[in-house]
Amino acid sequence: MKAALIHGYGEAFNTLVYEDVQTPAAGPGELLIRVHASGVNHCDTDLRKGLFGVDSPMPHVMGVDAAGAVADVGAGVTAFREGDRVAPHFMLSCGVCADCRNGAENLCAHAGVLGVTHWGGYAEYVRVRQDHVVRIPDGLSYDDAVAGQIPFATAWEALVEEIALRAGETVLITAAGGGVGSAAVQVAKLAGARVIAAAGSEEKLEKARALGADAGIDYTRQEIGAEARRLTDGRGVDAALEMTGGAILLGAIDALAPGARLATIGAHGGERVEVDFIEFFRKHISVHGCGRSTRAHVERVLGLMAAGRLRPVIHRVFPLSEAPEAHALMESRNFFGRMIMRP
Ligand SMILES: [Zn+2]
Repeated sequence: MKAALIHGYGEAFNTLVYEDVQTPAAGPGELLIRVHASGVNHCDTDLRKGLFGVDSPMPHVMGVDAAGAVADVGAGVTAFREGDRVAPHFMLSCGVCADCRNGAENLCAHAGVLGVTHWGGYAEYVRVRQDHVVRIPDGLSYDDAVAGQIPFATAWEALVEEIALRAGETVLITAAGGGVGSAAVQVAKLAGARVIAAAGSEEKLEKARALGADAGIDYTRQEIGAEARRLTDGRGVDAALEMTGGAILLGAIDALAPGARLATIGAHGGERVEVDFIEFFRKHISVHGCGRSTRAHVERVLGLMAAGRLRPVIHRVFPLSEAPEAHALMESRNFFGRMIMRP
């Protein structure tokens, strides 16, 4: 099969080479999936450079997400057959630990990661265990299934499952111009909340408004806490989804109303911050760390996408042979929405 693979780590985009590699075979309990679309993620560029913190065996096929049709099934596979439309879930959970058996496989401490510990979606075929895939509903394209799977499921896990966002509440969403942020704006609107989007430019806020945000805070020129209070008659927000860290995390904490819940799913902009915890117990504020979804919630958001209630944003579709160009665009940060590759 053709794949965009790496033989070692490297800063250069052409560390990714498009070439022939042995097509994997479906072993017992496994599916061989003909990939129709795969996504380019921030973690992919880190992995290419060797900055991911996990040593992948070389040569390596990255790609944490993919969507395609079952091309072959291994011995003992009963739930799927050739032609079924499926998408692997990036967490290759063990299936037997207490968390997995409890339906919380996103907490599995023994999970591999698709495209990191195992060959992933940057190829014509990907092999996964039958319990590691979700079905793609009829009417949802492979491109949209890949584009929406991780951002919407991550936003769903944080807003709906972790902090239980309710109709009528006001939620602050930071990095609202990003992949998860723009997905979160839509999920929060679907939950019936009023959305205050925060982003680093008026252009990004405009895009967040187009997806349903009710108000915007440009944190390059406005103070998040003060502006959030101004927009809520002085009360602050009932909930917040924060994914930047650093000063923006502190601003989001400052914006919280008494009894508010904060979900935190990332900290690229500052992993260590000095926080005054008195505010947390004085105001009954809770913090929820999250970031990984379960397969059940991936299926939920895929269904909402198929029904047209959540709309993934695709910036550009590349042929897989142009994986280096896709990585260059990812690193330029000059895009809005997901990047998709087709083998
Ligand atoms: Zn497990």
